[in-house]
Amino acid sequence: MVLQKVIRAVIMGAPGSGKGTVSGRIIKIFGLNHISSGDILRANIKEKTELGLLMKSCIDQGQLVPDAIMSRLILNDLRRIDSSGWLLDGFPRTISQAEALDHVYTVDTVINLDVPFQTIKERLTSRWTHIPSGRVYNTDFNPPKVPGFDDETGEPLVQRDDDRPDTVTRRLKSYETQTEPVLEYYRSKGVLETFTGTETNKIWPHIEAFLHRKFSLSQRVA
Ligand code: AMP
Repeated sequence: MVLQKVIRAVIMGAPGSGKGTVSGRIIKIFGLNHISSGDILRANIKEKTELGLLMKSCIDQGQLVPDAIMSRLILNDLRRIDSSGWLLDGFPRTISQAEALDHVYTVDTVINLDVPFQTIKERLTSRWTHIPSGRVYNTDFNPPKVPGFDDETGEPLVQRDDDRPDTVTRRLKSYETQTEPVLEYYRSKGVLETFTGTETNKIWPHIEAFLHRKFSLSQRVA
């Protein structure tokens, strides 16, 4: 009989570290469910659920949603899909959330994307957006034909508030203070795997090889 091991993983990385790209590749190759706490909250806000309405101001102000609410929300989702394996993204953000998760499931591995802050700053601050269409340019590797203007409409590009240098510095700092204890928590449990680099495409092969080794896709059982 050929068994596929259920993978229970967490991905961590600062905003702009390439977490979205890496998560997309992991779930495609390993067939996992991607559970993003931010996406779940945004969906609740969009659908105007009771929880969404309650949490909206918290999220708008960039504050964390209370641990008990967040943990219940995620654990409910995990219960539904556990048998097919999952990759958690954005959760846990605090020790209390990590412990709540631990009470119910054992996390097999925590992928930590370690990209130097200077690289992230350069990446994010070179990003310019055409707001009406959502088209994104990068002044380094995907510049608009005319600097400062959208290729298709000729309309001006703007730098999102999120991508301004001072905001980026603040977001990175708060990520660091917030998540360092969680990284330490998983480090002490021996499940933290840190991948360091400045380019997603160079880090990725190491992550893929690691996951293949760890969860050899098919496992023969007698
Ligand atoms: P994200 O897209 O992961 O940056 O999440 C967007 C916002 O949702 C955060 O700024 C928090 O307000 C909230 N949020 C997401 N995940 C969590 C979590 N694990 N704990 C508390 N708040 C969260």
